[in-house]
Amino acid sequence: MSTKLISKVNRWLNIVQCYLLPGTCIHCNKLSDRFYDLCKPCEIEFPRVKDPCESCGLPLPANNYDGHICGACIIMPPPFKHIVAAFDYAQPIDRLIKAFKYQSKLAFGKVLTHQLLLNVQTFYQKRDLPELLIPMPLHTKRLRQRGFNQSIEICRHLSRHLQIPYNYNLCYRNRSTPQQEGLNEKARKQNIRGAFSAYCQDLPKSVAIIDDVVTTTASARELSKLLKRNGVDEVHIWSLARACERT
Ligand SMILES: [Zn+2]
Ligand SMILES: [Zn+2]
Repeated sequence: MSTKLISKVNRWLNIVQCYLLPGTCIHCNKLSDRFYDLCKPCEIEFPRVKDPCESCGLPLPANNYDGHICGACIIMPPPFKHIVAAFDYAQPIDRLIKAFKYQSKLAFGKVLTHQLLLNVQTFYQKRDLPELLIPMPLHTKRLRQRGFNQSIEICRHLSRHLQIPYNYNLCYRNRSTPQQEGLNEKARKQNIRGAFSAYCQDLPKSVAIIDDVVTTTASARELSKLLKRNGVDEVHIWSLARACERT
């Protein structure tokens, strides 16, 4: 079947699905009037990072010298190339992500990931997409407590739509670190140092690390450095949300 015909059939299936099984918005609980579980008004109102720095994902300061990268990233470039996030980690996104992670609300994760997919598709219109997706590893102890790794769920959805493979066996956490939440930047850095290991067979030149929330970037930096030591040239960070208030 041709791609054109497949997308036509998909569009019709979505319309039929919308009539038979209308979506319910994950935020306001009203019928979403479309094929997935987020209504248009909530989608528009959800907090986004305005003019994010292409490197660290934080809002660019007013009168920034460079139109795309903030001064801090120009002076000291981070070990990753880009952070692309769907949302600002503020209300109600924080509540929805916590429900996804801690109450296994997988449908919430799917909707938020779809928003990340849209941002990625826009951001990479004139850029090369990475060759492999790597979910932020979760220590086995936490995986047992939670029952699933939220980053793998995000990866699955992105991988299917972008046709990029993902691998959750390449990187792992070699020790269980205390929760990063509630720690300041310095404590997070110390907490995460040396926490990851990688099986370094045949890593491609460009990879994306997939995470649910990027806060101080301590985990993203640590894992990026490890991947670069193992032959990766470019690391991209894709996350559902970017925390913009410095802790
Ligand atoms: Zn809604
Ligand atoms: Zn920056």
